[in-house]
Amino acid sequence: MKKNEMRLVFDSCSENESFARMVIAAFITRLDPTLEEMADIKTAVSEAVTNCIIHGYGGKAGKIRMNGCLKDRELTVEIIDEGCGIKDVEKAMEPLYTSRPDLERSGMGFAFMEAFMDELKVASAPGKGTRVWMKKRLQKV
Ligand code: ATP
Ligand code: MG
Repeated sequence: MKKNEMRLVFDSCSENESFARMVIAAFITRLDPTLEEMADIKTAVSEAVTNCIIHGYGGKAGKIRMNGCLKDRELTVEIIDEGCGIKDVEKAMEPLYTSRPDLERSGMGFAFMEAFMDELKVASAPGKGTRVWMKKRLQKV
């Protein structure tokens, strides 16, 4: 089995949404993913990173961590913040639920992560932060 891991820490600011998308795209490029797989993974990562910036840190400064791991053609990616955390994860993950309707959020971020990846796990502690873990197996070439 071939394994490849990467770790990245970056600041919580909106410029880094596209940075994180580009990093994950570069990380999986050598596996020659389909355009759809590439789009799905980039979208899932940017939804998770946007959540750290908007909800976790509420626009304030903070660090976001992204850990990627490839085992053969199976990608796992974790997006971690040390922000405000989520009180009720189950409720937060319901499609259309948003705590920020004032910001015109649609409450679909977790639903997209769930739809675009094979597995999604969210662990969070109020006052400590949030960890989003996602897995996707890429098609054979
Ligand atoms: P959208 O993603 O459609 O713009 P949204 O961000 O509100 O809207 P989700 O991404 O599904 O929707 O997240 C649902 C809710 O979970 C958020 O409104 C927020 O309350 C909470 N949440 C998600 N990620 C975090 C996080 N990293 N830290 C704290 N709260 C979070
Ligand atoms: Mg969101």
